[in-house]
Amino acid sequence: MLKIEQHGPVTVFRMGRHVASRRWVLYEAHAFLIDDTMIDTGTIAVRNEWAPKLDGFRCSTIVNTHHHEDHIGNNRLFQDRFGAEIYAHPGALAFLEEPRRIGMQLYRRVVWNTPDPSRGTPVGDTVSTSRRSLQVIPAPGHSPDHICLYEPAAGLLFAGDIFCGKRVAYFRADEDFNLTLQSLKRLAALDIRTIYCGLKGVVEDGGKALKEKIRGMEELRDKALELRQKGLSPREIRRRLLGFENKMYTISGGHFSKQNVIDSILGKD
Ligand SMILES: [Zn+2]
Repeated sequence: MLKIEQHGPVTVFRMGRHVASRRWVLYEAHAFLIDDTMIDTGTIAVRNEWAPKLDGFRCSTIVNTHHHEDHIGNNRLFQDRFGAEIYAHPGALAFLEEPRRIGMQLYRRVVWNTPDPSRGTPVGDTVSTSRRSLQVIPAPGHSPDHICLYEPAAGLLFAGDIFCGKRVAYFRADEDFNLTLQSLKRLAALDIRTIYCGLKGVVEDGGKALKEKIRGMEELRDKALELRQKGLSPREIRRRLLGFENKMYTISGGHFSKQNVIDSILGKD
């Protein structure tokens, strides 16, 4: 599935894989075009749907928010088609050049497929589109090489996967709770009207949504630490605060889990 919608100055590309039936999309990925600059390129799993829809688009620059396969999947397609320059955090570049280094579990290869290699250069403090300047904001936590892009005049935040909704539903095994919280706080200090999120797409009233997420994470952290003090095990804390694992746990073989959220809060002790 590839759907294209216009939202103000931003073209929104919504992608998803149908699983089991035509009705159920496992999870979605989004990429965005502002002026002549693509922010992320989605998943290679829908490459054949992209190709005929690119007529009329112009893209001279690609910025990857981080190296995950649902964000760099069509780098090569855009590089070949438009000769676009790719920019990313220095820590992401080796994954772009050799996507097998990402170390994707089976479910990720099935759902998103392995991207084709592409070549990027380190992103600076700003990215210039044909009409405006975007600020590059380091936002580690979801991954160490994660960046966001901020357009101050209209209050637009291209958030990659650092936001992903107002509630923390689950974490990947390698996500860092405290780093994510610090990054979200740094972003919340900006004047944000709209978040363009890798998972959720367009999130209006973005500054408020960010603050709500931060409040929820702080509450969750405080409760988890309190229960730990009382001697509850990490599993008991997860059950009490977040409930049972859901379908993401089953499908991902445990790579996505609620337990990962609690374990990251508690740290390794
Ligand atoms: Zn990601």
